[in-house]
Amino acid sequence: MVRYIKQVLLILPIVFLVACFKDEHSVSVAEKKHNLQEVIHYENVVPVVIIGSGPAGLSAAVYVSRAGMKSFVFAGPTPRGQLTQTTYIENWPGREKVLGAHLMSDIEKQAVSFGTTIINDTITKLDVKNWPFSITTEEGRSFKALSVILATGATPKTLQIPGERQYWGKGVTTCAVCDAPFFEGKEVVISGGGDSAAEMVFELAPYAKKVTMLVRKDHMKAAVAMQERVLNYPNAQVEYNKEIKEVYGNGENVTGIEVYDNKLDMTEKRNIDGVFLAIGHTPNNKLIKEQVPLDDMGYVKMQGRSQESFVPGVFAAGEIQDPSYRQAIVAAGEGVKAALDTTSFLYSIGFDVQIGKKLDKQFFETFSDDKIEVRELYERKELYEYVIDQKGVVFLDFYATTCPACIKMIPVIESVAHKYQDSVKFYKVNYDKVFKTIFSELWHKHNIKIKKLPALLVFKDGKLLEINRNIMSRKELSKYVQKFI
Ligand code: NDP
Repeated sequence: MVRYIKQVLLILPIVFLVACFKDEHSVSVAEKKHNLQEVIHYENVVPVVIIGSGPAGLSAAVYVSRAGMKSFVFAGPTPRGQLTQTTYIENWPGREKVLGAHLMSDIEKQAVSFGTTIINDTITKLDVKNWPFSITTEEGRSFKALSVILATGATPKTLQIPGERQYWGKGVTTCAVCDAPFFEGKEVVISGGGDSAAEMVFELAPYAKKVTMLVRKDHMKAAVAMQERVLNYPNAQVEYNKEIKEVYGNGENVTGIEVYDNKLDMTEKRNIDGVFLAIGHTPNNKLIKEQVPLDDMGYVKMQGRSQESFVPGVFAAGEIQDPSYRQAIVAAGEGVKAALDTTSFLYSIGFDVQIGKKLDKQFFETFSDDKIEVRELYERKELYEYVIDQKGVVFLDFYATTCPACIKMIPVIESVAHKYQDSVKFYKVNYDKVFKTIFSELWHKHNIKIKKLPALLVFKDGKLLEINRNIMSRKELSKYVQKFI
C-alpha cells in the first residue's frame, strides 16, 4: 500500500505538468486559429453565412438573427429549396394544409423580420481551411465569414440512360409541379416508387390523360397512405418490376421510352409524352468536398448529436447531412440546432454585440442591392399598352410561383431593371393568373407559344425578337440586355 502511495505521489507532478502544457497549448491554438481582434480590421466579414434557403437554411436564419447575430442567407440555385417544387404539405405541425411555396415564403419573411439578409446569389467557392473562411459568389462578391451553416440540400438523381440528357426539359423532368400543366391530355410515366413519385401522381393526374408509375421492385417504398391515394385516381396506374432503359423522341420532344421488365426479362417500346424522375437525391457537397469530412455517400459527418461538422465553425443542417429522415420539418429542426451551435461557437471565440456592430459597418455598403419593383401585367389591354404598342425594347418575364428557376430570376430581373431603367422596360406576368388573358392572347393572336417557364420575351417596337429560357445571374442578364440597347 505504502509503495502504491509513493508511486502515485511520484506520478502526480508529471500528470499536472502535462495537463498544464496541454491546456496552455490548446488555448494558444484556439486563440491563434480564431483571433477575432485581428479579424475586426478586415473589410467584408460576416458573422454567420448560411448557404441555402430551404427549410434548414431559413430556420437557422430565424434563430441566428433572433439571437442578435447578423446573418446572410445565400439563396443559391433553388431559392427557398425543394419545398417550392411540391404542392400541399400536410405534415408540417400546426399547419393542416399549406402550399410548399407559401410556407417557405412565410419562413423567409420571419427570418428577414429579425434582421437576416437574403442574397439572391450563389456561392461558387468556399475555403474553410483557413479562418475566417473565404467566400466567392457567382456574381463576383468576395468576403469572409466567421462561421458557416451549410444548408445546400440535395439534388434529384437522374437515371443516366440514353436520351435522358438530350430530352431534358423537352419531356424529361424532375419537377412535376413546374411542368404538370404542360402535359394536359398527354400520357406520362413516373420513374420511382417512393413518396416523391406518389406526390408526382397527385400533381400530374389532374392534367394528364394517363399517368403510370414504373416501380423497379415488386413493391412501392411510398407510405401506405400515399399508395392508397395514388390508386384513387382513375387515370393513374402502377406497374412493378419495370425500369426505363432509354428515352427517345423527334428531336424536339419526347415521344417514347424503352421499358425493361426485370421479372420477365423482356424489353418493350412505348409511346409516351413525358418522363418524370423521382428516384432519390444526392447531397450537394461540391463546395466542401476535400475540406469537410463526409461519409461514404457524401453526406457531411456530424459531431455526436450536434450540427457541428468536424471543421470548427462549419455547421450543417438538412439534406446535406441527412440521408435518412429527409423531411422538411426535420431539416427545419436541424437548422435551429445548427443556429444554436453556431451562436455558441461565436460566443466561444469572444464574439459580442460590439464586434458585430463594427463588422456590420464594414460590410453593408459593398452589399447594397438596388432593385426596382417590376410592374406585373394581368389584362389583355395592358399587354397592348405596355408591350405590343410600345416603342423601344421591352422585356416580358413569364413566371410561376411554383417554379424555382422563375423565383430565382425575379430578383435578378428587378436588379437589372433598376440598372437599365433609362433604356429598357421590364414587366412580369404570373403564368397562373394570365392563362385566359395575356397567355391566351399571345398564343392565339400573335402565335407566341410559351411552353416552358421561365420565359423572358424580348420585344422591340412591339415585335417579338426572341424568347430566353436561361437562368441567368445579374452579370449574364446585364450582358444580355446590352445586346438590345
Ligand atoms: P426514396 O429514396 O424514398 O425513393 C426512391 C424511389 O426511387 C424508390 O422507389 C427507389 O426504388 C427508386 N429508385 C432509386 N433509384 C432508381 C433507379 N436508378 N431506377 C429506378 N428506380 C429507382 O426517395 P423519395 O424522393 O421518394 O423520398 C425521399 C424522402 O423524402 C423520403 O424519406 C420520403 O418519405 C420523403 N418525402 C416525403 C413526402 C411527404 O411526406 N409528403 C413527399 C416526398 C418525399 P427502390 O425502392 O428499389 O430503392
